[in-house]
Amino acid sequence: MKHKEIIIGAIAAIITFLAIQGFDIMPIIFFVGLGGILYYISGSKLLKVKSFSIGEEKKESSISFNDIGGQDVAKNELCEALEFIRSNDKLKALGIRPLKGILLNGPPGTGKTLLAKAAAQYTNSVFLSASGSEFVEMYVGVGAKRVRQLFTQAKQSAKKTNKHSAVIFIDEIEVLGGKRGQNHSHQEHDQTLNELLVQMDGISSDDDVKVLVLGATNRSDMLDSALLRPGRFDRIVKVDLPDRKGRSHILKLHTRNKPLSEQVEIEAIARDTFGFSGAQLESVTNEAAILAMREESQEISPNHFKNAIEKVMMGEKLDRLPSAEEKLRIAVHESGHALVGETIFPHSVASVNIASRSNALGYVRSTQEDDMFLYTYDYLKGRIAVSLAGALAEEVLLKSRSTGASSDFKNASDIARHIIHGGMSEIGIISVEDVPKNKLHDTISSILAEIEENTLAMLNENIRILKQISDELLEKETLSGDQLRALIKK
Ligand code: ADP
Repeated sequence: MKHKEIIIGAIAAIITFLAIQGFDIMPIIFFVGLGGILYYISGSKLLKVKSFSIGEEKKESSISFNDIGGQDVAKNELCEALEFIRSNDKLKALGIRPLKGILLNGPPGTGKTLLAKAAAQYTNSVFLSASGSEFVEMYVGVGAKRVRQLFTQAKQSAKKTNKHSAVIFIDEIEVLGGKRGQNHSHQEHDQTLNELLVQMDGISSDDDVKVLVLGATNRSDMLDSALLRPGRFDRIVKVDLPDRKGRSHILKLHTRNKPLSEQVEIEAIARDTFGFSGAQLESVTNEAAILAMREESQEISPNHFKNAIEKVMMGEKLDRLPSAEEKLRIAVHESGHALVGETIFPHSVASVNIASRSNALGYVRSTQEDDMFLYTYDYLKGRIAVSLAGALAEEVLLKSRSTGASSDFKNASDIARHIIHGGMSEIGIISVEDVPKNKLHDTISSILAEIEENTLAMLNENIRILKQISDELLEKETLSGDQLRALIKK
């Protein structure tokens, strides 16, 4: 800034001096003005690329692999790949080409960023992170320039801090590395991707700063095949939702600094949080602590955890309450799910609730003893029955249905589709692409119709219990699994 002012001052002084000396200063003023305008335009937003700083740099990444729960397979695979960087001299001696990119593939919140940070710490590298969307621009060439900047910045930062390697983490890499030629402004998009490929190709084991690119995505199917070719992202590490052991490990990590009451059983919370990601589990521990604080309790109790799980899963409780009539319908609907759920899958219901939250008016939370890899025909049919049971209970007790069941129906038809894909339906083993749409539709309908009939019969046979559960639920707003089982037994 200072330089600019000195130059402007000097130019003004020279022009004044020349004017006093009697020179014709008009042409000089014209050229200086023109130069000024050009300088202004090049510095303005229109053409400004220079001022863009990409890649959030963390001076020291303090996350280590020990701070990441579960993900043992991903950690092992990653560590094995990172040995390439740690023992670069051996690689050079054997003429092995360096590992340039590793792709972390998995749903959001499973710890991909944490793994990248831990990788930087493990290899004593500088860590830079950017998101794929930061490279998306309308102007041709801007994204490519940003990619170049990112690599230059990584090397410079490493040199500045006397490190020999840099980890560049690109989140949502499918935004930047999607298949070429398909994008709206595809020329710009393709140039950006090409630049990334060029930069990655340029990495060699002789570089004084080794650069490793870690990409994270949930859609590796969307990536351009050029990115997955050997010499680019040639390792793909799967980062899945944690299983029960993983969940328990993550919960333990995030409750290290929290006062838990003696009754809290981490294993039980892990069982109740089937399908939760690491980020959601972190949120559960945090919400539980907030609830404890609100109640001015010194310790976090199992009840705080229970409410925290429900809050993370279903959102905050609603201020706007349903009318009495709606509440009755919600109670009947949830009782249907709970009764059929508990009958077909004993001990599966953790709680039934009609305290409306932002994501659902009422809900049945179920526990799953173990994470499953394979589903049998009977299991899937059971799940469909549980899904349909809400609307059917409304029909049995209130003699009409409502719109509240649309997501249940979607769920049921998705499961029916699984049955068809698994070759377990009446049309036998099929290749899904070859089945006409109407045939698929008819088969789904026939699966659902049969289960609907059986479930309706089951509810009609147990109409008294259904009514009792619904009354109790209306009164108490929430029933635990044990309370529900006691009612059914009675
Ligand atoms: P992703 O990059 O996969 O979307 P992050 O790594 O950003 O997910 O995780 C977000 C947050 O969730 C982390 O800061 C951490 O608190 C928590 N988390 C996610 N996965 C784990 C895990 N495996 N172990 C411990 N904490 C985790």
